[in-house]
Parts: sequence; C-alpha cells; structure tokens
Amino acid sequence: MNTEWEVVIGLEVHVELATKSKIFCACTTEFGGAPNTHCCPVCMGMPGTLPVLNRQVLAYAVMAGLALNCTIENETRFDRKNYFYPDLPKAYQISQLYRPIAHDGYVDVHVGGREKRIRIHEMHMEEDAGKLIHSEYGNETYPDYNRCGVPLLEIVSEPDFGSAEEVSAYLEKIRSLFTYMGISDCKMQEGSMRADVNLSVRRAGEKALGTRTEMKNINSIKAIERAIADEADRQIGLLLRGGCVTQETRRWDDDKRSSYAMRSKENAQDYRYFPEPDIPVIFVEKEYIAAVRDSLPEFMEEKRERFMRQYSLSDYDAGLLTADRKQADLYEEAVDRGAPPKAAANWLIVQLARAMKDLGKDFEGIAISPCELAKLINYVEEGKVNRKDGIDVLSEMIQTDGSFDVAQYVQEHGLFITGDSEGLLEAVREVILSNDKAVGEYKGGKEKAIGFLVGQVMRRGSGKFHPVAVREAMEKELKK
Ligand code: ADP
Ligand code: MG
Ligand code: ZN
Repeated sequence: MNTEWEVVIGLEVHVELATKSKIFCACTTEFGGAPNTHCCPVCMGMPGTLPVLNRQVLAYAVMAGLALNCTIENETRFDRKNYFYPDLPKAYQISQLYRPIAHDGYVDVHVGGREKRIRIHEMHMEEDAGKLIHSEYGNETYPDYNRCGVPLLEIVSEPDFGSAEEVSAYLEKIRSLFTYMGISDCKMQEGSMRADVNLSVRRAGEKALGTRTEMKNINSIKAIERAIADEADRQIGLLLRGGCVTQETRRWDDDKRSSYAMRSKENAQDYRYFPEPDIPVIFVEKEYIAAVRDSLPEFMEEKRERFMRQYSLSDYDAGLLTADRKQADLYEEAVDRGAPPKAAANWLIVQLARAMKDLGKDFEGIAISPCELAKLINYVEEGKVNRKDGIDVLSEMIQTDGSFDVAQYVQEHGLFITGDSEGLLEAVREVILSNDKAVGEYKGGKEKAIGFLVGQVMRRGSGKFHPVAVREAMEKELKK
C-alpha cells in the first residue's frame, strides 16, 4: 500500500441469533426448508397481526452488548424502517434507531504484535428480511420468506480500522465472543454473520474523513480483504486523477475481483423511521443486566492464559485448544478425568484434529465423551495400547453417537498389549541376528539404533508385547 494515503474503514456487522423461534412470532428459525413454510401471518406482516418480542432475543442482545463492553440501555425501543422492496412483505423492517439496546462499547484486537481498540458506536436488534430468488430464464422473481423475522444483531463500529488485517481480527474476535456465549454460530459462508464495509481514504496526517463508499454483505473474510484492497486502490486512483469519490453503495464481485456501483447511498431520512407503535417500550432492569454480566462465560483470551498457567501449555498450544469453546471444554473435562495435560493437548491438537479433518467433521458434528477420551489417551500413554491402534480407535470413536465404550472396543478388537512375554526372548534374539547393521551401530555407541530394533520386535509380536518390556529385554541381550 501507498504510504502517502491512509485507509479508513467502519463496519456494520449483522449476526443471526441462534434462537429456536423468530424475533416476533413462534415460527422456527431453522435454515432451509421448502420456500415459505417457516412463516405465519406475523412474519408475513399481515394487517391486524401483532409482533411480540422473543425474550431470548433480548437476553442474547444483553449478553452480546456486555461482551462488546457496551452500555446497556435501560429503556430500549423498536422503530420502523420503511422501505419498499419485496424481500420484506410488510414494506418496513422492525429495527432500532433512536434507543438501541447497547451503545458506546469497544473491542480490542491484536494485529502485528500490537493491541488496537475498535470503538463500537451502537448495537441494535432487528428482524432479517426474506430471500429473493431471481429466475435464470425470464423476469420472474420468487420470494422465500422463511428468513423473514429471524433475529439479528447489528453491530456498528466507529471508523477506527486502518487495514484489512484489523478488520479480519475484529470479525474473528466477534465470532469468538459470540460462539463462546453460544448465541450465534457466526458462519459467514452460511450468512449467519455478514459484514458491510464502509471505506474512505485520505492523505496521511489528514484529520477530516474522506467521502466513503459502502460494500454490502461480503461473505468471507478473504473476500473482505480483497474488497478492501481493491476499493482503496480505486479511490486513491480516482483522487490522484483529480476526481472525487461518490458516496454510494457498491457490490463486490469476488469472482471478478472488482466492485461496481449499485445505488447512491440512502440516508436515515430516506427510511422515514418512526417509533414502532405495536411494541411497547422495554425496560431492562439494572439487576437483570448485573445477573447477565455474572453469567458470561470465560472468553478465549482469559481461558488461553489460564490453560498456560494451569496445565503448563505453550502459548501456541493453549491458543489452538481455546480457538473453539467445545474443544477447550472437551480438553478440560478429559484432563479432569485423568488424562495427562501435555499428552491430552497433543491428542486434541494433532490426532483428533487430523481424524476430524479426514472425516470432514467439526466440533458441532461429533459427540465424544471426555471420560472415554481420557481412558483412551491413558491406555496409549501408559503403553497398554500401541499408538497407531489408539489413533484408529479415536477415529472410530468420533464416528459414533457418544455411547462409544473404549475398554470394550479395545478388548473386542484384541488391541490390549498383553505384556505376555511368551516368545519375547526368541523374537529379540531373531531381530538381533538379522539386523547386523543396527546392532553394530548400537554397540558402536549410537544408542538411538535401539529404537529401530525395538520396533522390529514389536512388529513381530503384532502388538502383544509391552514396549517397555521389549526395550529391557533388548538392552539385556545386546549387553551379552
Ligand atoms: P449510515 O447511517 O448512513 O449507515 P453511519 O454514520 O451509521 O452511516 O455509519 C455507518 C458506518 O460507516 C459506521 O460503521 C461508520 O463507522 C462508517 N463510516 C462513517 N463515515 C465513514 C468514513 N468517512 N469512512 C469510513 N467509514 C465511515
Ligand atoms: Mg447504516
Ligand atoms: Zn412467523
């Protein structure tokens, strides 16, 4: 990037809340379904119907506001945002403008070894709109209103970002906070987290903000990074050629790697906002806010610090383990059930991660009992089951519904190393006789060569010998 210019970015992030029902009616929020089957007269905006606020949405909004270090409004209200577009059959969206639930917060992000504070202007509750499916052939458009009324939080930042890296770090942070609280899954590819990027440029050192453009609903962090680089270049180019930036909404086409103007930017006045007459003012009591604050979970950064202290893990390992709360919980429960902390960290970060990747699974999609996991880890670490077999057992385990019994499986498949030393001495002698080279190396002072010889004996025993016993027998024979 050109160092004579600065990029200034502000984000509007929409997050779908993981409630069972919609924000103002009892319809399901489930994704998909045949078009227009998750709807009722309320979310279709039929005359005479009345919206009723879902209590869970308010609870999640208060949690989110507190996690974003916002002040929670004691008296919050909904407003009507009028617009005429068939994705919302009411011709208005119930949103919040004048008294949003939360305001004046911040999020600290770490970028390039530095901490940066991004201020949050406000966060409000609103309903999502439907989807319009445009026919490939004719001029028809088919509205699907299943998504109408799905609860959203919109988080509006101050124009505090100076780079794409800061933007990605902020989005990752919001994803981490929200998934830790379990209030959203924040999947950009599935649209449960969407970001509008407002961007302007100015000469370095300049105080006043330049004219901005807005790019809506970009659906991956990578695409956002590309859109930012491209839009900054476009604006700088325009200004260098003596032109000006027009305040407008642009569509980022990630396949073409370029954006085009959609419409000139609308102002709040264009929406003719007014207080929603069908929903009374909501009083959020101080005691309620305090109770929610007390119930917030330990978030990723604190958890990582604690894992480093409590389990003597490296920063890196603790970071990987706490990236996903389900993983962090599984780790901690397995350790509670007796798995050695260092070994358990390795099992999760390396073996479990690999097994899940091979099977195309994530933590949402596996039911693994921490108790059984701890048992398996201990079998291997104590030399009762050999490592390779242990890894196979793990992979079997994550393909079941959580009722997997490690002891029974290992028993039935004959995977326990019996420690039965029958035939051990013969095997050791045979291996010594047929591996002159390794034996010579060992006797010549290269102690590591014994590892190879032990491995050969283990193979002959097809898992029945105990590695410690094999090593002892081998050392004894070699000394003779
Ligand atoms: P509107 O109500 O028109 O959407 P807002 O003032 O609410 O505008 O700002 C929307 C977003 O745009 C905010 O995240 C804000 O930080 C950002 N923003 C405002 N002005 C600028 C600017 N000049 N450059 C970059 N971002 C901006
Ligand atoms: Mg806006
Ligand atoms: Zn409904």
